Amino acid sequence: MTKTSRFDLENEPLPARIAVGLNKVGLALKFQGWQAAGQRGLSPLQGQILSMLSTARGGLKPTVLAERLAVSAPTISDSVKALTTKGLVERRADERDARVSLVVLTTKGRAEARAAAGWPDFLAGAVEALDEAEQEAFWRGLVKMIATLQRDEQIPVSRMCITCTHFRPNAHRDASMPHHCAFVDAPMGARHLRLECPEHEEAVVAARNATWKRFTSSP
Ligand code: SF4
Repeated sequence: MTKTSRFDLENEPLPARIAVGLNKVGLALKFQGWQAAGQRGLSPLQGQILSMLSTARGGLKPTVLAERLAVSAPTISDSVKALTTKGLVERRADERDARVSLVVLTTKGRAEARAAAGWPDFLAGAVEALDEAEQEAFWRGLVKMIATLQRDEQIPVSRMCITCTHFRPNAHRDASMPHHCAFVDAPMGARHLRLECPEHEEAVVAARNATWKRFTSSP
């Protein structure tokens, strides 16, 4: 049984302190994002569009970009126009349906997307201060938090393992790699869980709920 310390009585509860800590990290990210974007002549939203397109095979519809980035269609339209003028993206007809127009990265845009994706490098340095076991526990907790926020419709949907039709949580006895990805037919550990996977296919609601229950029932 855990002993009680006077800090248990005087401190804010741990969930509240974790929320304050995350808020501080969020502020640091926002500040760095604005600085980095400004240096390259991009708005943070334009940087996010480039990052999102870099993980999508074959481009994305503007409506999908708006949905994933939780902004309005006119806002996406303005940013796509600005990125087109800069030569970073272009419109292309969808090969499956010529009536559908997709936003795709140009070669210049792909290079810029790699730089935009590097915005949180300063955070990666801080995360490296954690040892391997701490990183894995942190990653698992983070994935769980993001999935909860997504289920509560507080953040845009991301293409993460937990909502994927190919994800089989706790399918193996090996505690270091308990999960399974049916798409590549390979076991996965918590450290392998993805937040933005190009192969992701959204599972139906009942399957998502069952996956969530099975995933969160493990220690
Ligand atoms: S296809 Fe991608 S998102 Fe789906 S389970 Fe495999 S790695 Fe995860």
